[in-house]
Formats: sequence, structure tokens, C-alpha cells
Amino acid sequence: MGTADQTEVIVIHPSAAPPAQGPGARGFRATYPVMPAGLVAHANRLLAAGFTVRGINVAVEQMLAPDFRAATWMEVQGAPALLLIDLHWYEHAAAVVELVACARRVWPDALVAVGGLTATRFAHELMQLCPAIDVVVRGDAEESVLGLASCATARPESRLDQVPNVTVRDTHGSPVDGRRASSTSCALLDESNGVDLGFLDNALAYERMVYSYPPQSPWGGRGRWLINGRGCAFDCSYCGGGRSAHEALTGLRKVIRRSPDAIASDIGRLLGRGIDQVSLTLDPDMLGRAHRTAFFDALHRRALRPGLYVESFQLPSEALLDSLALGSDLDHTEVAITPLSGSESVRRHHGKRFSNEALLHSAAELVSRGLSLFAFFSLNLPGEDDDTMAETTDLARRLLELGPEAQVRVINICHTLDPVSLMGATPERFAVQRITLRSLQDYVEYCRGPRPWGFVEGERGFTVPGRDLQKMVASWNVLSESYPGRAIAVPTV
Ligand code: SF4
Repeated sequence: MGTADQTEVIVIHPSAAPPAQGPGARGFRATYPVMPAGLVAHANRLLAAGFTVRGINVAVEQMLAPDFRAATWMEVQGAPALLLIDLHWYEHAAAVVELVACARRVWPDALVAVGGLTATRFAHELMQLCPAIDVVVRGDAEESVLGLASCATARPESRLDQVPNVTVRDTHGSPVDGRRASSTSCALLDESNGVDLGFLDNALAYERMVYSYPPQSPWGGRGRWLINGRGCAFDCSYCGGGRSAHEALTGLRKVIRRSPDAIASDIGRLLGRGIDQVSLTLDPDMLGRAHRTAFFDALHRRALRPGLYVESFQLPSEALLDSLALGSDLDHTEVAITPLSGSESVRRHHGKRFSNEALLHSAAELVSRGLSLFAFFSLNLPGEDDDTMAETTDLARRLLELGPEAQVRVINICHTLDPVSLMGATPERFAVQRITLRSLQDYVEYCRGPRPWGFVEGERGFTVPGRDLQKMVASWNVLSESYPGRAIAVPTV
């Protein structure tokens, strides 16, 4: 149990990359430093309840000091009563397995809890795989985190069996689920504090890492992600955060919106602390016309003009583009659109419901307002093949030719099969022949597998026969060489 001079709760965001092994090892693997936006709110909720909290982001620490070791860091800290680690994205699966084992060795009496969407999906397997884990938080974590901190610090009236949304161990060490309770509500999101980062080591470095670097601001800036709601109205085939995934994992059946005033107020606080760009977790268009209008009105009333990074879940409405053009700091604003493919049938099959003509029109409207566009293609989705790649590179070229050099950039990425995606659940709908990522152990091995990627069919957890991924990558990278810095080569890590 923690004592008065020790931090009661330590929060850790893992790195996806193993510790660097030598000078050339830095940058060899992606570290994925972006923390789940909810984790910041959990830490601040604990602080508001009177607990002492400290956080580290291992990815940030590794990027600042390539020889950083979480184990060494832990050894010089006093033992916390509660250790919280996020396993939101499967890319961190192996790192979490290693972190909890290390924490149990260094802090034998700490209550070790892991939460996030991936942890939720594999709650029982995670506990079986990791004897060091005491608790997995499943789904909504707001109440659970407070309850766990109370139990770990032996606050009166606290009992582990009364904490909602957790899987704990029975007397034989087997995982057992506690009661489920949905805690997401507009009021709860409104009051959550996703602004303060006082609990986090090297917060300034973190903010520089999460800035999107739109091409008109190559000098960079400070960025932050901010929750403007929870859930999604769509169900893209490859996504583990869509409508059905949220329902399956957390019971959330509809999108929850934060109030426009709460969002604008937080943006005001962030700007006051020197943040240049706020990335919204949900597309303002998806939250509805009334909400979107009220949000930009609330910014206007407060005389706020933030840089905004907006991911458009389909195509941005003209009203959204107008609001961004009038009400955001264009130097630090960027709109992301996800065409996936140049082939309209591939795009629609995977959940994006717009034609090439509509995309080009929307992109032209965006650029004509002085806004910047970042277009995301997805090289290895089922249906994308040598033939459709020609359509994809053609469409990307047309987007790049739309505006002045600084305003448009494009990227093509390969997807890994998400544990709760439609593609994984119904592979036959997507002509996927074989799936090799099913269990948590599969994902742990995937994380430990060799990098850089070889672009061999099947290495990302699913196999689609009859195409040549390496040739497809090469054709995109030819485009990339023609537009240096604007058409980004297919990432290899
Ligand atoms: S990828 Fe699709 S399903 Fe996932 S969050 Fe975006 S719009 Fe929603």
C-alpha cells in the first residue's frame, strides 16, 4: 500500500517499440506515443478525488533517450498503490506483457490494472497470459478507476467486488467478471478534464510529438487530442472503433456528444497554455449540424481561433469547411479525409460512402478556402490490387494537383487486422482467405515480429490471394518520389 510520501497512482502509456539496442536502432520501429484521450481525463479525475498521481509515456521517454528502460525508471520510484497501464491499441500488446511482469517484480504489492479497448476484447486471455495483472478494466473506466484507487489505498468503504466493469481473479487466480455498468454520459464527458498534463513527465515533448505537422507549418508546434464525444455512427470494415465495436465492447449504442461549450472552454484553456493545434476525437459533421454550429459559435463567442486537426469520417460538409476557414488558425489547421482507394467500389465496400467526383469537389472546396488536406489511402485492404492501384495513384495525383504545394499531402498505409473489426468477424464478406491474428497471444507475437515490413501477403494478419503487395507498394512509392514531402512513401514500420 502507498504511504503519504509516495505517489499513490502511477499511470503508464507503453511504447510499441522494444528498448533500442544500439545507435542504429532508434526509429527502426514505430513507438506510437499518442495516449488514449480518456487516459488524461482518468488521471485528472483521480487527482480531483485527492489521490496523488504521476504518469510516464514510455514512447516519449524512449524518443527523448533511446536507452530509456522502464524497469530502471520503476526501480528508482517508490511503489505506487495502484499502477494503471493502457492497452487500447493492439500495437502495444507485447509491451504491456513486458511492463506488467517488470512492475510485479519491482513493486510486488501494487495493484496492477490494465484497461482500454484491446484489454477489454481480451480480458480473460490477458489475465491468463499475465499472472502479474490483478485487474482488467473492461469498457467504460471512469467509475472503475476511482474505485480501484480507493481499494488500492484502502480507503474506507472500498471493496473490489463493488467496482464496476472489471475482471478480477477468484481465489484460484482465474479471471472472473464483475458487474457491468455503462458510465458514459454527456454530463460525464462534459466534466472530464482532458486539458491538464501536470501529472505527466515530459509533457511538453509529448505535445510536440502529437502535432500533425501540416506542410504549411514545417517548424512544428504543440498539439493535443481533445474528446468531443464518444462512439461512432459508422462501421468501416477495418476499424475496431466503429459502431458495432463500441457496442460489443462497451455497450455504447449511440454517439455521445460533449456539450459545445465544454469543448470550446477546454480549447480556450489549451490555447492559454500555448497549444497550437487541437485534434478532435470525433468528426464535427458526425455530431450533427446543430452541434457543429453551436461549437463554432462557442469558439467565436470566446474569441478563440485554434488550429484544429479534424478527421472527416466521410466527406466534410461545406458548412464545416466554411466554419474552419473563418474560425480556425489556418497555419495549424488540417483536414484529414480517408478515400482508402481510387476505386469507388473498394472504398464503398469498406465503409466510405463517396464517389471520386464528390471527393475531388470537396477537396477543391477545401483548398480554395485556404485549408490543408491530408488524404489517407489504404494499400492492403481486400479488393485493392494491382489494377485498382492505378486508379489510386491517379486519384492521389489529381488531389496533389489541386492546390498550391503547401496545401495537400497524401499517404498510403497498410492495415493490420483489428481484433474487433468487421473484416475479422466476417472475413468471407471481404474475400479474406485466411486470418492469422485472432488471440491476444497472436497479437503479442505480431508485435514481436520482424520489422521493417516486407509487404508480404499475410504479414498483417489476413491474406487476400491473387495480388502482389510489393509491386503495389513500389507503384505508390514512384508517385511519392514525384512529389517529395507531399506524397508520403508507404511506411515500413
Ligand atoms: S474508421 Fe470508420 S468506423 Fe472507424 S472511427 Fe472512423 S468513421 Fe468510425
